[in-house]
Amino acid sequence: MKVDNILSALEAKHPGEHEYLQAVREVLTSIEDVYNQHPEFEKHRIIERLVEPDRIFTFRVTWVDDKGNIQVNLGYRVQFNNAIGPYKGGLRFHSSVSLSTLKFLGFEQTFKNALTTLPMGGGKGGSDFSPRGKSSTEVMRFCQAFMLELWRNIGPDTDVPAGDVGVGAREVGYLYGMYKKLARENTGTFTGKGLEYGGSLVRPEATGYGALYFVEEMFKVRGTDLKGKTVAISGFGNVAWGAALKATELGAKVVTISGPDGYIFDPDGISGEKIDYMLELRGSGEDIVAPYAEKYPNAIFHRGKKPWMEKVDIALPCAIQNEMNKEDADRLIENGVICVAEVSNMGCTTDATDAFVEKQILYAPGKAVNAGGVATSGLEMSQNAMHIQWSAEEVDQRLHSIMCSIHEQCIRFGKEKDGYINYVKGANVAGFMKVARAMIAQGVI
Ligand code: GLU
Repeated sequence: MKVDNILSALEAKHPGEHEYLQAVREVLTSIEDVYNQHPEFEKHRIIERLVEPDRIFTFRVTWVDDKGNIQVNLGYRVQFNNAIGPYKGGLRFHSSVSLSTLKFLGFEQTFKNALTTLPMGGGKGGSDFSPRGKSSTEVMRFCQAFMLELWRNIGPDTDVPAGDVGVGAREVGYLYGMYKKLARENTGTFTGKGLEYGGSLVRPEATGYGALYFVEEMFKVRGTDLKGKTVAISGFGNVAWGAALKATELGAKVVTISGPDGYIFDPDGISGEKIDYMLELRGSGEDIVAPYAEKYPNAIFHRGKKPWMEKVDIALPCAIQNEMNKEDADRLIENGVICVAEVSNMGCTTDATDAFVEKQILYAPGKAVNAGGVATSGLEMSQNAMHIQWSAEEVDQRLHSIMCSIHEQCIRFGKEKDGYINYVKGANVAGFMKVARAMIAQGVI
């Protein structure tokens, strides 16, 4: 395989899909050596098959806003790869969503889900609709209109959506409610559901908890732990919240969170009731995190800035793709950062990632670090299929052992001769090998 040849063919076919091409380039670059050692992969044209989604649904979503005006949005579901299980992955509702965004997310999801040890393929969907600033009835009407199109293409053993940016418990409730009405079945074709109707304990916390379990393992490799370490977190939503909770529990001190308006630096640490307060920031209009500094006067709000300016031991991007660039990476490195773990999907630009790896920082990519979210979704699917509910301890313990296993896979495939663990390579190769072998075993389909 020549990565450049494959990529230029892909660029010609999908011009302008920058995020998708970025995600493919990152994976292909890190698996190239292993791929070339296995002639069977080339023979079966695994790469050419793996980089294109199995199919994509695109549809118009028409709904009526509170003023009686008709609104039109775009809806998508990318069923990327089901070699190892039903398509699985979230829905993103955000004004920036394009097909390129969802193709990159679906591609990443395929490898991430493979790493979880659970039988789940990769998929992703969403819309350019943004719930921010909409009333709950508008969100409900949008979700219902969205599901009217999507419902025929999903099912408990076909394709199981969940939340992502802009799709939380409220949206999942409306989406699943409409799905159930149309499909007339209650098999849990959605994860992240409310606890009253088939959801799993620990799912809301799972992405953040899983990320910190992974970071804990990364520190263990260097013979240390998180006690007393300072942590910069970006974002303010569900993922940032779960990460702040677990980081604090493990003895670290979280000093930042951020929103579209800027970031908060709290020298006293964001812990206890301040973490609960994060949940209130979500509904508070244009200024998302700014009100934090009014409530806690020791904290400083930096308008329009990113938290990566701060000197911290650990940086956890928890917001959106490419939120950390080379300049941010260089500053963090200069300031002595020990560990950077992507909790958002593709949170770092390629040159930022390269900078961390080159400087041998403890650095791990989103598909490994944030896999605890979808892994716990997988556990929700198991509970639904068995018609039971596990205790929080049971789910948490399974989540913990899955994260340890992902970490082991990264070491197995990513340990370099000098002992440095290249988690990017480790995660990509481990995920790829599993999907590739499953594809070969199932023939040309
Ligand atoms: N959106 C999350 C992710 O990026 C969770 C997906 C799921 O639970 O299916 O992995």
